[in-house]
Amino acid sequence: IIILGIESSCDDTSAAVIKNGVLLSNIIASQKVHEAYGGVVPELASRAHQQNIVPVVDQALKQAGIDRNELSAVAFTRGPGLLGSLLVGTSFAKGFSLAAGIPMVEINHLQGHVLAHYIQEKEVEFNPPKFPHLSLLVSGGNSQIILVKDHLEMEVIGQTIDDAAGEAFDKCAKVMGMPYPGGPLIDRLAKEGNPNAFEFAKPRIKDLDYSFSGLKTSFLYFLRDQLKENENFIEENQADLCASLQKTIIDILLNKLIKAAKETGIKEITVGGGVSANSGLQNALRAEAKKRHWNMYIPKFAFTMDNAAMIAITGYFKYQNKQFARQDAVPFARMSIND
Ligand code: ATP
Ligand code: FE
Repeated sequence: IIILGIESSCDDTSAAVIKNGVLLSNIIASQKVHEAYGGVVPELASRAHQQNIVPVVDQALKQAGIDRNELSAVAFTRGPGLLGSLLVGTSFAKGFSLAAGIPMVEINHLQGHVLAHYIQEKEVEFNPPKFPHLSLLVSGGNSQIILVKDHLEMEVIGQTIDDAAGEAFDKCAKVMGMPYPGGPLIDRLAKEGNPNAFEFAKPRIKDLDYSFSGLKTSFLYFLRDQLKENENFIEENQADLCASLQKTIIDILLNKLIKAAKETGIKEITVGGGVSANSGLQNALRAEAKKRHWNMYIPKFAFTMDNAAMIAITGYFKYQNKQFARQDAVPFARMSIND
């Protein structure tokens, strides 16, 4: 079984080839045009996908050493994401499927993030998480705790009621005058700072749910008050601000994850999504895992960000179940993990 995966849900155009579960190529073209705007500009993203998609797919096939005629199916991200971006990948997949005479498989981007742990790489020891496991999915659009019962059987047991963790990073970075996306920058600056320098309000939310909008507001008001006293406050305290903010976000994330692990008795824990690249979060998860005897699975960097390898591996599982998409499939901007 050879699957071509296509990912175009946000601002990364990506194509990957997976043969019998083993990754042969994973090409990612990240769009730089959005940096100047403080966020992803949907129209520019669609246009960049349109520009990138053919060369990215060509490169993925070439690097994999796979001819179009050898492919079993083309898997594409159906949602969630930006509609204009998704339309590019969906339309491309349809054209490709017709031209190559192979079926299409539609993929839920969130399932892709969760299943990134099942990508096998050549010459890399393969030790995938066992079922059931708990997945902490932390990205630009989602913060969820998912009970993963099988490859394609998942249940959301906790989720954010407002902003996602990635949004908290990005919005607070914007308040400090940093470019988009702020998450990776805060991560880097936090390494030089004191995580206990400042304290920010943590939400009181019931069950296993999250909330991050209060943190953003408390961060904004705190800075506004400090700037009245000292207009250079941000520049003078940048590293401490980043470290303290990052620690607060990590504490919030871990608190509910620990609760979920206790309640379910599950010790197989995975993390995924763009924010799972955060070094502070990774360290905190490893420490917690050691303390609580969890088997902790942290994806390698290329699989934390949006990538087509995770789409192709999900396509590989759906292909085996003969779950094919129809030629009139349309993308959806909003989708839950089970849609
Ligand atoms: P979704 O997957 O929910 O549809 P998305 O695809 O836009 O959303 P991802 O690409 O998975 O999100 O993740 C992007 C987010 O990850 C951004 O908010 C970015 O700031 C954040 N991020 C990336 N690297 C880091 C890091 N090292 N530390 C903190 N945040 C990070
Ligand atoms: Fe994503």
